[in-house]
Amino acid sequence: MNKEKEEEKKVSNCKYIFVVGGVISGVGKGVAASSIGRILSDRDQRVTSIKIDPYINIDAGTMNPTEHGEVFVLDDGYECDQDMGNYERFLGTTLTNTNYMTTGRVYRTVIEKERNLEYNGKCVEVVPHIPLEVIRRIEEARLKAGANVVIIEIGGTVGEYQNMLFLEAARMMKIKHQRDVFFVMVSYLPIPSMVGEMKTKPTQYAVRTLNASGIQPDIIIARSKLPLDDRRKEKISMFCNIPQDRVISAPDEDSIYDIPLNFEKEGLSNIICETMGLTCSIETNEDAAKWAKFAKSTHTYKGTVNIAVVGKYFNTGDFTLSDSYLSVIEAVKYSAYTSGVKAVLTWISSMDFEKDPKSIKKLAKYDGIIVPGGFGSRGIEGILMTVEYARKNKIPYFGLCYGMQMMVIEYARNILKLKDANTREVNPESKNLVIDVMEDQKKKIEDKNLGGSMRLGAYPAVLVKGSIAYNNYQTGEISERHRHRYEVNNDYREKLEKAGLVFSGFSPDGKLCEIAELPLSKHPFFLGTQFHPEFKARPLSPHPLFTAFIKACIKTKKK
Ligand code: GLN
Repeated sequence: MNKEKEEEKKVSNCKYIFVVGGVISGVGKGVAASSIGRILSDRDQRVTSIKIDPYINIDAGTMNPTEHGEVFVLDDGYECDQDMGNYERFLGTTLTNTNYMTTGRVYRTVIEKERNLEYNGKCVEVVPHIPLEVIRRIEEARLKAGANVVIIEIGGTVGEYQNMLFLEAARMMKIKHQRDVFFVMVSYLPIPSMVGEMKTKPTQYAVRTLNASGIQPDIIIARSKLPLDDRRKEKISMFCNIPQDRVISAPDEDSIYDIPLNFEKEGLSNIICETMGLTCSIETNEDAAKWAKFAKSTHTYKGTVNIAVVGKYFNTGDFTLSDSYLSVIEAVKYSAYTSGVKAVLTWISSMDFEKDPKSIKKLAKYDGIIVPGGFGSRGIEGILMTVEYARKNKIPYFGLCYGMQMMVIEYARNILKLKDANTREVNPESKNLVIDVMEDQKKKIEDKNLGGSMRLGAYPAVLVKGSIAYNNYQTGEISERHRHRYEVNNDYREKLEKAGLVFSGFSPDGKLCEIAELPLSKHPFFLGTQFHPEFKARPLSPHPLFTAFIKACIKTKKK
């Protein structure tokens, strides 16, 4: 078989599902794409997911989380969109940077290839060369994952200038692979309060706009506050040129984990299999049962725990943007639900404590406190007040990255009496930099080489026997994802340990402190990690440290 035929054969065994959004942004494309992945892998398909983001940024690492949501970090250190976290969590897989692309990344490759004379003297044009590079990347991700189903979410909303070249790539794939390429439009149906009726017209327009790109959706997922009635299904079917049974009702749900189950109530995986000619096992596998059990636990919990999340980045105008910490929220939920409780999170700006120090007492009513990751000096003193309060009042405390560094600073200030203890990030003039810049970061900061240059991604760590960390991981070797430039200064390690702080996890060469904790005899749970455990928490395998924290919160509440 010649090479081209071989390629054809590989491709013809694979199905590509493009997911696009209509009418509004934030319609739930990511969760819809993840749920489709879930129901197909429950029927033994080898699914991988790709996210396309239309912005120029090479990765999401340089973007402000209040504007773009959380920066999610992959094992390989790539900083990407929070939707990648949803894919990993829903599919239970580990993705790589090949599963993610931005306009900037695609253009950069094309320009580099042109500079390397890889286009054989041709004029390199936006069309077809940009869409062809998009297609090459989709193929690369599929081969790397060994998948037979690839779900590709195109960011943005249909009709935007920004994502047109990606739609063009999808259209070009459709010409070549016909039945193997499938389009899902996730659209929004408003119910304006003055008419009180669900309206289909915006969806009709969105489909027409998509049609103008040469693409006809095969399925419409109709997102709305309420389920779709037959009248609306008929209308969408008639005006959008789609059989009625391919208009899927997707009402708002309190729990996103019900969405794969709801899709199956509408027969979605069968519809996809029939339309694409995909042979799926009729029985669902073990994971499907586990998922259903987890989804149920989000409704059948017996009590609640109240957790304060203290940090910055929470406010944008009049709204609180908890999306910046999506993985933290998810990790807490998984551990809470599987422990039989619901975690109620309250977002508290640490700056409030700086303005009114007495208000720190309001933390007394919480069963646990989380200080998540962060950057810069804003709100730091308020966070240190929070750590001190949690330590002295024995409220379970979990510090994630910056939250761990703050633990160390607070301990140095209040127990070692190093009053000016700080991190170089906040005050380089401090005489006691208990948190200092990592050696290999110095030159990067000097050269302003700041994009994608932190200590990023999965690194191994070894745990100290008998520690809280060791006992909960139930192993001495772990691998966790990182995103930081600063670390515990080893010059202070011994002094801190002598004063009672336990470092219970280290990089294998012993140079970097990965976990700090106080023994259970001194505090019900006071632990911080230099890494971000939240990035590896999954609904079907909650993170052991989050679970330990939640269990401590439950105990505290009972008292
Ligand atoms: N700003 C700190 C550092 O760079 C912590 C980073 C974080 O919380 N992700 O080391």
